[in-house]
Amino acid sequence: MVILGSTGSIGLNTLFIAKKFNLKVNALCANKNSELLNRQIEEFSPEFVAIGDETKAKEINHPRVFAGVNGILEMIDAAYKKDDTLLVNALVGFAGLRPTIKAIEKGYKIALANKESLVIAGEFLDISRISPIDSEHFGLWYLLDKRKPVKLILTASGGAFRDTPLKKLDNVSLSEALNHPNWQMGQKITIDSATMVNKLFEILEAYWLFGIQDIDALIETKSIIHALVQFTDGSTTAHLANADMKLPIAFALLGEVSEPILPPVNLLQIKNIEFRDIDLERYPVWQLRKTLLQKPHLGVVLNAANEIAIRLFLENRITFTDIASYILKAMNKFENIHVLNFNELFAADKEVREFCTKI
Ligand code: NDP
Repeated sequence: MVILGSTGSIGLNTLFIAKKFNLKVNALCANKNSELLNRQIEEFSPEFVAIGDETKAKEINHPRVFAGVNGILEMIDAAYKKDDTLLVNALVGFAGLRPTIKAIEKGYKIALANKESLVIAGEFLDISRISPIDSEHFGLWYLLDKRKPVKLILTASGGAFRDTPLKKLDNVSLSEALNHPNWQMGQKITIDSATMVNKLFEILEAYWLFGIQDIDALIETKSIIHALVQFTDGSTTAHLANADMKLPIAFALLGEVSEPILPPVNLLQIKNIEFRDIDLERYPVWQLRKTLLQKPHLGVVLNAANEIAIRLFLENRITFTDIASYILKAMNKFENIHVLNFNELFAADKEVREFCTKI
C-alpha cells in the first residue's frame, strides 16, 4: 500500500496497523519531517518515497525520491500495481485533494483520512472506491445494517474550549486551542474541533458517503459514543469504542477485522455519559449545518475560508473567534456559487482564498 502523510498522527497509527498485520508498505510520503521519514524508510523499506517540500529532497535516504506537489502525483502513478492497491491519504487540507483525484483515476482503493477531499469535491469523486478513516463514519458504517435509517447523528467532543467562559474566547492562544480534551491529533484538525468546523466537515463527509440528508450532531463530552442511527420504528443504535484511531484505520485497511484492536469500553469505569447541544454562541459556524446539507457543493467555500483563517490565526494576525467570522463572511459572499467540474472547483477555491485574504 501507499501511505501519504506517513509522519502525521494518522500516518503513524496506519504504520502501527500495517506492522501488526504484516501489510507491505510500498510507498511513503511526508512534507518536511525528513528525520522521521528516514527512520520509516529504514524500517519499512518502501520502493518509492515522496516529499512535499522540495528543499528537503536531498535529506532523504532513498534512491527513488519524488519531490513537490507534482512529485507526489508522479509517485502515485508509479506505485500503482493492480486494482486492489490501497492508498491511504492522510494529508491535511486542500493539499490532499489532487492526490485523491489522481488515485481514483489510477484505480486505487482509497482509505481516506483527508476528509477535506470529500468536503471540497464530494460531488465529483467516485465514492465506491473510498473507505473513510474517521471515527464517526466508521461508527455509522458499523451501525448501518439492512434496515433503512431515518437520521444519522454524529458526536462531537466540543474541542478545547467547550468549558471556557464565552467572554474569554476572544483572547485564547494557539497553545490553548491545541489542548484537545479527548484526542491526540494533528494541529489543523485540533483547531477545527475547537471551532466545530470539523463537525461541519463530517456532516458533509457523511452526506457524500451515505447519501442521507437528515444528519445532525451533538456533544458527547467523553468521546466514547462516536455515532448514532435512528430508525423508523423509534429505535436508536449507538457505536461505542475507546477514542483511538487504530480501530477505524484497521477496518479501512483490512475490510474486516477479527483480532482485538482496542480494549473494550469499560462502562463501570465511565459511569456516566453527558450529552450537550451544540451552542451557536460558542460555535457560530454551526448555523451553517442546514445550508451545507441543502447546498453541499458549498464545501469548497467552507474549506478555503477555513484554511485561510487558520493560517492567519497561526500567524497571530487574527483571533480565534475571527476564524468563524471569516467563514461566515465567505459563505455569505459565495452562497450562490455552483461549480460544474474540477477546473471550476479549483478556480472557486482560489477566488474564496483571495476574498478572505482581503477581509
Ligand atoms: P498531521 O498534521 O498529524 O499529519 C499530516 C501529515 O501530512 C504529515 O505526515 C505531514 O508531513 C503530511 N503533509 C502535510 N501537508 C503536506 C503536503 N503539502 N505535502 C506532503 N505531505 C504533507 O495530521 P493528521 O494525521 O491529524 O490528519 C490528517 C488528515 O486526517 C486530516 O485531513 C484530518 O482531518 C484527518 N483526520 C485525522 C484524525 C486524527 O485523529 N488525527 C481523525 C480523523 C481524520 P510532515 O510531518 O512532514 O509535515
